[in-house]
Amino acid sequence: MPLRYAVFGQPIAHSRSPRIHALFGAQLGISIDYRAIEAGRGEFADRVELFARDGGRGANVTLPLKEDALALCATLSERARRAGSVNTLIRDGDGWHGDSTDGIGLLRDLRERQACDPHDLRVLLLGAGGAARAAAFALADAGVRELVIANRTLKRAESLAAAVADAAHVGARAWDALASARAFDLIVNATAAGHANAAFDVPQTLLAAQTLCYDLSYGKAAKVFLDGARKSGATRLSDGLGMLVEQAAESFFLWHGQRPDTASVYAELRAPAG
Ligand code: NAP
Repeated sequence: MPLRYAVFGQPIAHSRSPRIHALFGAQLGISIDYRAIEAGRGEFADRVELFARDGGRGANVTLPLKEDALALCATLSERARRAGSVNTLIRDGDGWHGDSTDGIGLLRDLRERQACDPHDLRVLLLGAGGAARAAAFALADAGVRELVIANRTLKRAESLAAAVADAAHVGARAWDALASARAFDLIVNATAAGHANAAFDVPQTLLAAQTLCYDLSYGKAAKVFLDGARKSGATRLSDGLGMLVEQAAESFFLWHGQRPDTASVYAELRAPAG
């Protein structure tokens, strides 16, 4: 009998997680039944309960359910507690243990695929939602020299900055005050703006010759930020496909105790279809 896993979210039809976990399983000889399950906020708890009754052993959770996932967990890892969101559920007895692998996924992609060690860098983080929170703590733990957090809703940036402040030199900025900021070594877009196809202005003043502009989103959703950064002169650009594979590999490790090779899976996802 294959082990049962799933990713919950809405919308979920586009999710690449089932393919990633199938490739990891095939690589390591582990038989896995990993499905995408559509669930909105009101129905999530019931769907997860049903999934557990049907033998579900673990699940990933994506937009817009990461905070709801946190609420239904009996126990949490330290990184999930700090991030205030859960992207990985692990069945533990009659309940769920929650973890957050987004932060470690981001760091692994930056270090291993983008040749970018955040240690001692000046970093601008755009956004203050679940993914931004995970990214902020991971970047602070990695020893950034300075972390500036900007968000459309300034209050959320301020409260995230206050939460991370013990671990790094952190500040918050209003979205429309960004143009007067100095250049950064790394700009991480952790907003969901690309999903709404909203125009994205990346002020030139934020860019130095070697600034890496990194969008957590991938596919069409990454286009507006990366196009905006390119238009302002950025030459080092990346979407978050590598982070997606790395956070999945960490979830896989939590469930199966084995680390898959991510390079071959990333290459397959990146290859043009057809
Ligand atoms: P979330 O909790 O809903 O947070 C959304 C964030 O985006 C908030 O900071 C929000 O600002 C901001 N935002 C939304 N629409 C905006 C707009 N039109 N202009 C400016 N800011 C806007 O979402 P999340 O879970 O953090 O996810 C954020 C992004 O990261 C998504 O695109 C998601 O797909 C991506 N992600 C990728 C990975 C990966 O593995 N590659 C992992 C996790 C997340 P307000 O506070 O003002 O509402």
